[in-house]
Amino acid sequence: MLDIRLKAGLLLGALSIICIFLWLISSTTTALLVFSSSLLLYLMSHIFWLNKLLYWFKKPALKDIPEGSGLWEDVFNALLKYERNNNLNQIKLNSALERFNLTANAIPDGLVILGSVNEIEWCTTNAENQLGLDLNTDKNLPIVNLIRDSHFIAYLYSEAYSEPLKLRHCRNSEATLEIQIIQLASNQKLLISRDMTQLEKVDVMRRDFIANVSHELRTPLTVVGGFLETLSDMEGAVPENLKSYFAMMQEQTGRMRRIIEDLLTLSTIENNAGNPNNSEIDMHSLLEMVCNDALGLSQGLNQDVKQAKHHIHLDADSTLNLRGAIDELRSVFSNLVSNAIRYTPTNDATNSGEILISWQLKNDQPVFSVRDTGIGIEEKHIDRLTERFYRVDRSRSRETGGTGLGLSIVKHILIRHQAKLEITSELGVGSTFSAVFPKARMVRKHAPIIR
Ligand code: ADP
Repeated sequence: MLDIRLKAGLLLGALSIICIFLWLISSTTTALLVFSSSLLLYLMSHIFWLNKLLYWFKKPALKDIPEGSGLWEDVFNALLKYERNNNLNQIKLNSALERFNLTANAIPDGLVILGSVNEIEWCTTNAENQLGLDLNTDKNLPIVNLIRDSHFIAYLYSEAYSEPLKLRHCRNSEATLEIQIIQLASNQKLLISRDMTQLEKVDVMRRDFIANVSHELRTPLTVVGGFLETLSDMEGAVPENLKSYFAMMQEQTGRMRRIIEDLLTLSTIENNAGNPNNSEIDMHSLLEMVCNDALGLSQGLNQDVKQAKHHIHLDADSTLNLRGAIDELRSVFSNLVSNAIRYTPTNDATNSGEILISWQLKNDQPVFSVRDTGIGIEEKHIDRLTERFYRVDRSRSRETGGTGLGLSIVKHILIRHQAKLEITSELGVGSTFSAVFPKARMVRKHAPIIR
């Protein structure tokens, strides 16, 4: 096929030769007349096909592409080829998009793509059902206009998405959703909603089971413990050679009672989904109580010498108070201090048994921390310490009256107070357990005026 420029050149060349020939055999006027009228016809044919092309562009359809003539035949053929390729690509793209939509809609989780100002760009059918959205009408609307839950709005704007958020299902108040947001590179966000109703039910069953079993065991254990105590107190009731067995039985029933009490405490905290009491706590008196308990425990562990073997120091900011549930927080502080004492041996000449309890503002956040010079913990155990019944040293935990549930209780109470537990430790050197509270829970009281 000839190049379009060559074709046009040949045509104009032929016309010029004809006109020169006419000029030679006839007159200049005839030659100019033929040349100009031919050029006019040529121009008119271009205008005609240009108009056809413009008309086609208004309603571009493959079947309506004009056939054209002369140079325009090539133009329209190229256009036809281009349109065919385009259609083929469009079909491929559509089927890929359809496959993507089918796959995305088959995922049981709901997916929503949010734009730079949190407007809905796209979502799956499951997201529509779970979150009460309708892509046809809600596209480009800010998601906060449609999901008005205050926790969701706070979560979305917090830009801290490491933990998921629990949300009630929009159509079924009994159902729970878990919302996780992932920040995408393009300033967009991917919101994933997961129906947690079944898992939640299983979790409730597990919690109820533990709570019920603990309740059922508490009464018989109290009776057994009571009788053992009565018999031990009765003169001559227990033969001398059986006394050590009785002491062991008493010790074990005591241990079981402590485990049951801790399990009940855990299920009470877990079932208590509401916000904790937010009254102001007088940290000065609370820390004094915690220190006294610590001295008592240290003495109890060293009964033979009847005095506290650990050196317990308190470094507290007296102007710093905290908002929260006093009973729960006392349990947190006592648990951390009692662990420090129980895992810091004092019968060793190299260990002076130093325990430092500190209550200070660190990086603008109120922090309660306990530092000990105890046995320390290997790095690999640290992440698992708050799991129920996870113990690094089972026998030491048992010997010192541990239940393996203390740090689990601490973690749950801290979560309820939007606080977090930080642990640093070095084997054989000591550990520091810190409860870091949010700034919002801090209360500054004025320092007492000394006259
Ligand atoms: P336990 O009743 O066994 O002390 P916790 O839940 O309080 O249970 O603690 C879990 C485990 O973490 C303990 O068994 C112990 O191995 C380890 N641990 C806790 N606190 C300390 C500490 N201050 N020093 C060393 N190990 C600790």
